[in-house]
Amino acid sequence: MFSDRHVVCIGAGGLISHVAPTLCRKGIGALTILDDDEVEASNLNRQRFYASDIGKLKAIQMVRHLRRECIHATRLTGHAMRLQEAIGRGVDLRGDVAVCGVDNNPTRMLASRYFREHGIPVVFMAVSAQADHGYVFVQGADGPCLGCLFPDAVDDERYPCPGTPAMADILQVVGSLAVYGVDTCLMGRSREWTYRTINLTDGAWDSARMMRPNPGCSICGGGAHAAIEHPIDRCPPQL
Ligand SMILES: [Zn+2]
Repeated sequence: MFSDRHVVCIGAGGLISHVAPTLCRKGIGALTILDDDEVEASNLNRQRFYASDIGKLKAIQMVRHLRRECIHATRLTGHAMRLQEAIGRGVDLRGDVAVCGVDNNPTRMLASRYFREHGIPVVFMAVSAQADHGYVFVQGADGPCLGCLFPDAVDDERYPCPGTPAMADILQVVGSLAVYGVDTCLMGRSREWTYRTINLTDGAWDSARMMRPNPGCSICGGGAHAAIEHPIDRCPPQL
């Protein structure tokens, strides 16, 4: 049952702002949010914060605001730390599914490795620096991982793209697809894709594909080549 399930959110920025409130409204059993960032004034046009939150910790403030969204006795926990630190400190991350809405490849790849090792599906999301397109990738407990999809990002150690813009509209579209991805993992709703791309400008980039493992993948070992026709920008905006 949805009300028995635990979702771990990595990040508390623009994408998770469009995922976590919906999960609460839908009656999720528990939600854990990780983010070490503080709220800035420039976040308010797209993130679920208010002027009174400026300078405060995103993970803590988001949990406070989410209490009002709950229709069920959802257990809400916020940790003001990155995934790296949470793993190092032994924070309980044994959810039924994780949702990754961060802005950097090192954290994405760590999430891919960590949750694959623990048999937990991860829903990854990102939007482009131009805020016109984005993707959702559902990494299952087995099958292709994020490293199969973006092999060049596996060893990317950069934390790029400070201050790049993002818009609430693309975040909302991608966030909605991610919530659906969570539902397919938890509730068995039908999903004939692992990789979903969407472009607001036109439909040329829109797709819903089942990716295959990449035999050269250094994360999962792979099985067959993944075919990527339109890789997302490697430098998505600050989320
Ligand atoms: Zn892989």
